[in-house]
Amino acid sequence: MLIAFRVTATCTFQFSPGRTFPTVDPRTGEVIALVAEGDSEDIDRAVAAARRAFDEGPWPRMTAYERCRVLLRFADLIEQHADEVAALETWDNGKTLTQSAGAEVPMLARCMRYYAGWADKIHGLVVPADGAHHAQVLHEPVGVAGQIIPWNFPLLMFAWKVGPALACGNTVVLKTAEQTPLSALYVASLLHEAGLPDGVLNVVSGFGPTAGAALCSHMGVDKLAFTGSTGTGQIVLELAARSNLKPVTLELGGKSPFIVMDDADVDQAVELAHHAVFFNQGQCCCAGSRTFVHERVYDEFVEKSKARAMKRVVGDPFRNGVEQGPQIDEEQFKKILRYVQSGVDSGATLLAGGDRAGNRGFYIQPTVFADAKDDMKIAREEIFGPVQTILKFSGVEEVIRRANASHYGLAAGVFTRSLGAANTLSRALRVGTVWVNCYDVFDAGIPFGGYKMSGVGREKGVYALRNYLQTKAVVTPIRGAAW
Ligand code: ADP
Repeated sequence: MLIAFRVTATCTFQFSPGRTFPTVDPRTGEVIALVAEGDSEDIDRAVAAARRAFDEGPWPRMTAYERCRVLLRFADLIEQHADEVAALETWDNGKTLTQSAGAEVPMLARCMRYYAGWADKIHGLVVPADGAHHAQVLHEPVGVAGQIIPWNFPLLMFAWKVGPALACGNTVVLKTAEQTPLSALYVASLLHEAGLPDGVLNVVSGFGPTAGAALCSHMGVDKLAFTGSTGTGQIVLELAARSNLKPVTLELGGKSPFIVMDDADVDQAVELAHHAVFFNQGQCCCAGSRTFVHERVYDEFVEKSKARAMKRVVGDPFRNGVEQGPQIDEEQFKKILRYVQSGVDSGATLLAGGDRAGNRGFYIQPTVFADAKDDMKIAREEIFGPVQTILKFSGVEEVIRRANASHYGLAAGVFTRSLGAANTLSRALRVGTVWVNCYDVFDAGIPFGGYKMSGVGREKGVYALRNYLQTKAVVTPIRGAAW
């Protein structure tokens, strides 16, 4: 059945009529629905609606406690509709239902409650002035926030972007990824049901070079937040600079090291390193995709990693017990297989996988390469798929140097029993997150973002609020007029 989704209930603008695009079930390649395709004209309308809601609407003017309560009601509605939200996410994205229902929907609700809690705790300062002046610093919403999100975690990206923006009293135009438009449309309608006034959140489904670029270039957008690839992030920053110099936060790609020291429990290290790279079909910006293993435990680690990957259950993400669903689309599927071929061609040892799984949809076998070298493409570039690249090292200084020899700096994993090694590595690694003896821990309060070409700024936690607030100094003489 083909459904033409039109606009979400929270929009107060009308899409230009007619054009739609298909969103596809990655299990089969079949069309799930036709979705209204927003273009630059629709972005104009969405920004105008957001501007009106900011300049004239109740949202920035209501008490912070009222805004807090809307976000709390939204979190309750997410939980009431958890089954539909999770199923929609798995259908459109291909991630396992266990993950959608067990982790991502609860994390969406949690993140919304976290920012609901901040709404009435955002306040400024009084600064001691040198002279007889009362100097206040006010924190005000920045205005209309443009937000562009990717397809790998549609619901979480919605939460990380929309949560802090709304808590601070902004209005939003959100452009979803063309591969996964559905879950954001659905949860946006729940947010409206929770009491969000018209025009405060405007979701536009559409493509990057059209709708996305129009949002980046728009003179009426006061702030931009983007998550996606590093190459697209460079375009986004340039468009923002060439238009109205709107401030931009970027959460981009990575090639994160996962470092296994010689004192590690090898079985546990294998399991965690496996999770670090294969989670979400390997489609994580922070995937631990360079597995550095100390030479003393290398052979055992490699054998056990091969066995673990071969045991990984690949199949229909709606089925119980399945660990890995299909990749998002044909383009990513083909790109990953090209990387696998380049690994073979460059002389890395292919231990497991290396091919598509099944003959329908975008499934790829869990793939493991050992004996990789730092200059190989599979050890340098972001594959964004279920491909583990294992590299051998022999000392702490060496692994620090090699781990840092990347333009990326998003995250790192460290696996060791030694507090000293954990401390040394945590401080030496030039990355935004170091997970020690754990990986992919994403609490709403923990900041996330990258060093180097992995990003600009931080999301989550108190840090994200700064992205959505202006700082205003108000100075008055203490004893009446100063002249
Ligand atoms: P991927 O290659 O993994 O799809 P992208 O960085 O291209 O990652 O996509 C992330 C988001 O950026 C998506 O919402 C996409 O539509 C959007 N996007 C892609 N190209 C552009 C562009 N030129 N300007 C603005 N947004 C874009």
